[in-house]
Amino acid sequence: MWKQLERALRQTRTVELRLDWLLTEKEMQAFLRRLATERPRATLIATCRRREAGGRFRGTIASQLLVLAEALRAGCGWCDLEIESSSQCPPELLEVLIGQGRRLASAHFFRAHSADWHSVAARLWRTRPDAVKIAAKSCSLADGLKLLRLANGKRNVVAIPMGEVALPLRCLALREGSALSYAPVETATASGQVPLDTLENLYRADRISRKTRVYGVIGDPIAHSLSPQLQNAGFQARKMDAVYLPFLVHDLRDFLSAVEPLGIRGFSVTLPYKQKILRHLDDCDSLAAAIGAVNTVVVRGAGKLYGYNTDYIGVLRALQLRISLPASRILIVGAGGAARAVAFALAQSGAAVCICARRAQEAKMLARAVGGEAVTRARLREDFFDAVVNATPVGMFPAVERSPLTEHELNCRLVFDLIYRPVETKLLQLAARRGIETISGLEMFLAQGAAQWEIWTGQRAPVAAMRRAVLDALGVGGKQNLRAQG
Ligand code: NAP
Repeated sequence: MWKQLERALRQTRTVELRLDWLLTEKEMQAFLRRLATERPRATLIATCRRREAGGRFRGTIASQLLVLAEALRAGCGWCDLEIESSSQCPPELLEVLIGQGRRLASAHFFRAHSADWHSVAARLWRTRPDAVKIAAKSCSLADGLKLLRLANGKRNVVAIPMGEVALPLRCLALREGSALSYAPVETATASGQVPLDTLENLYRADRISRKTRVYGVIGDPIAHSLSPQLQNAGFQARKMDAVYLPFLVHDLRDFLSAVEPLGIRGFSVTLPYKQKILRHLDDCDSLAAAIGAVNTVVVRGAGKLYGYNTDYIGVLRALQLRISLPASRILIVGAGGAARAVAFALAQSGAAVCICARRAQEAKMLARAVGGEAVTRARLREDFFDAVVNATPVGMFPAVERSPLTEHELNCRLVFDLIYRPVETKLLQLAARRGIETISGLEMFLAQGAAQWEIWTGQRAPVAAMRRAVLDALGVGGKQNLRAQG
């Protein structure tokens, strides 16, 4: 805990000490003794949450109060006492035992809950604290926003929407008026928490103001997405006051109704919403309409939504340098959203497009839409293509040992796998083994993301900084450049 405290103090001057996570009374005493000796210059909040209130402390309320009193003597300026304990003690007793410090009266709702937060706050204020805190699991952005509105810029109110869906609200909590936002140094103590380092350095949570332009990516799941690293690196490289957040969206309408209150200026769209978003748009780029999928939305005046497809641009940027498209014959494996963008991009560039999908009907429909040809899997062993593009998720993390095609089905000069996690998929390994040139989905990911950034900002994207951030996040850093991919 001491090491964690030291790490925290490198990044913030306000730290909550979860004393209930120390295993024994002896550990707790040793920690508090060291605190009393070293007295770090910071605002420290002592918490010793009892099991009844979702913590780990097994002692009685009286022993909890004694621990908090000791922590205050050791240099903590504040203590956090949950309503389950404070409601059992007369305020006069609290004054005698822990009156030398300031008290945060807290209430936690770990299950999805939508209470009248004002009456919960009123209950907390009745225990005569210096500040109140309500943390509640929010299953929707609407619920989370309702909780944040309770704080509304008051210096003595902390509102914490918990849960995965509310993660972006934790990043925006300070701007939305909460006096504090919580982030773990190492171990998360509640769901939806963002590690301190990420909260500060990736999402700049302490510097977000009403002027900050907010962008994001919507999808389900979304935790795996590297778009936040990519886009935020772009904003930081250009020193722009903007932030890009990941939104786990179970209900598209809930997200769309939060666009205006959160001041979202634009967002990326990923699985499974690339097609579903279309019917919520006010207008759409003609190419995106033809593809039937949108991966980029711009929020214009009066909340009007305008859609684009930059996967299309990503495909072309990744392929054009390696192959002359007008004269080529290219096989696309898969017939979903990404396959549609690839098929339209290649057909419009003059390539002959072939589609192979596990559902023959889907392959035929896509082939017809782009004036191409549907091919069966059985034909792949004999046929030859200039390039093969994998537009299925087969081989994507965590099922990295899988490949959509066997080695003998790779009769081509170039293999392009849209998957970027891992950078070198099983399919690319098989191709390289046969001496076939390869392109990782990372190239397309970078290009489609840079195109989004340019649409939103109207400036040229700092591609080198964006690439570096994604390679770092993938753990390949500067060691492996993309030449290794082909
Ligand atoms: P999608 O709309 O769900 O389409 C997936 C396609 O793959 C469908 O044709 C699906 O067939 C097929 N498929 C799924 N599982 C399969 C399996 N086990 N065997 C054979 N075919 C299978 O997904 P998407 O948006 O097109 O994305 C596809 C891949 O491209 C994903 O891995 C995604 O991460 C990647 N992608 C990368 C970028 C980039 O920038 N690099 C951009 C977009 C997408 P059914 O219809 O029969 O299910």
